[in-house]
Amino acid sequence: FSQTVSEIVDEESSDGRILEAPNLKVFTFAEMKTATKSFNTLLGEGGFGKVYKGWLDEKTLAPSKVGSGMIVAVKKLKQESVQGLLEWQSEVNFLGKLSHPNLVKLLGYCWEDKELLLVYEFMQKGSLENHLFRRNPAVEPISWETRLKIVIGAARGLAFLHLSEKVIYRDFKASNILLDGNYNSKISDFGLAKLGPSGGDSHVTTRVMGTYGYAAPEYIATGHLYVKSDVYGFGVLLLEMMTGLRALDTKRPDGQQNLVDWLKPTLSHKRKSKSLMDARIEGQYSSKAASLTAELTLKCLEHDPKNRPSMTEVVEALERIES
Ligand code: ADP
Repeated sequence: FSQTVSEIVDEESSDGRILEAPNLKVFTFAEMKTATKSFNTLLGEGGFGKVYKGWLDEKTLAPSKVGSGMIVAVKKLKQESVQGLLEWQSEVNFLGKLSHPNLVKLLGYCWEDKELLLVYEFMQKGSLENHLFRRNPAVEPISWETRLKIVIGAARGLAFLHLSEKVIYRDFKASNILLDGNYNSKISDFGLAKLGPSGGDSHVTTRVMGTYGYAAPEYIATGHLYVKSDVYGFGVLLLEMMTGLRALDTKRPDGQQNLVDWLKPTLSHKRKSKSLMDARIEGQYSSKAASLTAELTLKCLEHDPKNRPSMTEVVEALERIES
């Protein structure tokens, strides 16, 4: 299985145009129009296109009537985006081959004339970012227990990528984590994923792409991407989950531009870490859980990638906090 993954076409080493995803269904555009009732219900909008609700027969994956069969999410790419096309190919090549309970399931795709679409399992609660930072006041705050469940799921997904598949995800952030109806978390969006180095602590060198606020310092400075660069992004997510503050927001009370630079010194005073926790979930966590989470977060945010834990170690540490 990992051998097939290592044959994945990389956008920086070949023309990236070969699609190799035998398990995926190839849809026609007409089928997609029927399944989404001509793109009638918008679920969300991202950088490269819009996501619509659709209905497919569970067994045959043929379009079905509204309200019957299974609900799917259909992402329709903006036609003019070259980067979008590359990321679409990367999504098919990686996600089309990977299967894990904490990775969103890609069911198929459509590539017809200029129409590029991706069909995913439906994630009822949408992206973690929408829940954590509640732009919509109707969204309930997520409890401490649920926050732990969400990060553990995402950590398991990353650990699987690192360990079984030698894949570096590269763009780990709250908006790329989707939640099902029971707050099970799944990683989506493999547009920037890369095959990792064969040796443990070595790196691949690549163009710097990703998201400000989450990208690891060594990667921003040198373009050297380590498996442990993902662990840094995970540390940023832990920080967001604890504090309810958003890494992408640039205006902070003391003028600091970066959430990590701002909070890291405070986090190391273990006594204070409880007061850093999101006031909206006040009272739901123990001092012990708060200080253990703060400790783990600091380890993930270590400047030198070698000093960060592996994602497998992160999963173990989070499971200990949960129990
Ligand atoms: P981005 O470019 O921010 O990564 P996407 O294009 O992947 O965003 O998705 C945009 C929005 O569409 C998400 O924030 C989410 O609300 C919704 N969405 C994406 N995929 C799914 C899915 N599988 N199920 C339900 N909603 C989804």
